[in-house]
Amino acid sequence: MIKAYPNLVIDVSKIRNNTKIVRDLCMAKGIELAGVIKGFNGIPEVAEAMAKSGCKQLASSRMEQLKEIKLRGHGIDTLLLRIPMLSELDQVVKYADISLQSEKTVLEALNDKAQEQGVRHRVILMRDLGDLREGVMTREALIELALFVEKQLKHIILEGIGCNLSCYGSILPTVENMSQLVSDARAIEEIIQRPLRYVSGGATTTLPLLHRDLLPEGINHLRVGEGIICAMDLPLHFKTDIEGLQTEVFTIEAEIIELAKKPSYPIGEKCVNAFGEVVDYEDKGERLRALLALGNRDVGSYTALVPLDEGVELVGASSDHLILDVENSVKDLKVGDILSFGMFYQGVLYATDKCYMNIEMVG
Ligand SMILES: *Cc1c(COP(=O)(O)O)cnc(C)c1O
Repeated sequence: MIKAYPNLVIDVSKIRNNTKIVRDLCMAKGIELAGVIKGFNGIPEVAEAMAKSGCKQLASSRMEQLKEIKLRGHGIDTLLLRIPMLSELDQVVKYADISLQSEKTVLEALNDKAQEQGVRHRVILMRDLGDLREGVMTREALIELALFVEKQLKHIILEGIGCNLSCYGSILPTVENMSQLVSDARAIEEIIQRPLRYVSGGATTTLPLLHRDLLPEGINHLRVGEGIICAMDLPLHFKTDIEGLQTEVFTIEAEIIELAKKPSYPIGEKCVNAFGEVVDYEDKGERLRALLALGNRDVGSYTALVPLDEGVELVGASSDHLILDVENSVKDLKVGDILSFGMFYQGVLYATDKCYMNIEMVG
């Protein structure tokens, strides 16, 4: 059979391997692992491989993905990562077993929905420890919200507290902020007179602390996606090499549609590129260049690609075209040849995309 390109190759055995390695790292410290599926748009076979490799929950920011997991009847608990919209609470109660929460308004409405559907929904309340995305800013406010849930909302179960870092504010998890979260939990337990099930200490970027055995005792839950699906990010950005994690879980193959010697510096009057950006071009003289049928549309940005063929270098891209310098290619290339690329998180996210946008036609 002739393959169609671009072709996304997913090595499910590497998903199983990486999930088990992260799971074992967590398990050694009594930490439960939620496998985060949003980075690959919840592709069911991949999510299933994660589930079977020791995740306690499958987690996503998108309700559609959790719904799909539930409808497939995997039996694994689902965890909603994004504070839900008021307009999706019906779905949340139906298809998410647990959700992260920070808004009293949402919690009240969620309680009503849970009552309507005759179930009790579990929540983890988020504390903002400085990254400035979701969560309440102070311990006092967190305690107040926890008490409200515990005492007033009969159809909501206060499952624990959590935090998220490194997403907006680029703030690292540290011994200090993780300890703060644990002592928040202890303070709440003191007041409600029962232990919390979860103290959820973040995502992939908490793994370096865990790996160095610096994660404060009391953190007993992590939510990990990137570390499993894009293992090369940890050594690159966090100087953390977790033994046995495999890279190139997701690779993309694309076809050469033009191969020619061309100047490397554009000719004529310069303005902006296809995305309205002013670009600096390096003049390296004439180079052998390959044009591929793959573009930023497919992978977000070509800078999220890592050429796997020796001597192949990224030059640039527009929506549907990728330009490579193949002057030093070890392989003798020709039109129609296929080149492979590893991908950073952004590449995986875009390459696995289904369109979630609602489209409304007017006029
Ligand atoms: C995306 C997300 C995660 C997982 O992040 P990774 O970097 O993929 O591990 C965890 N928690 C929340 C709240 C998220 O939004």
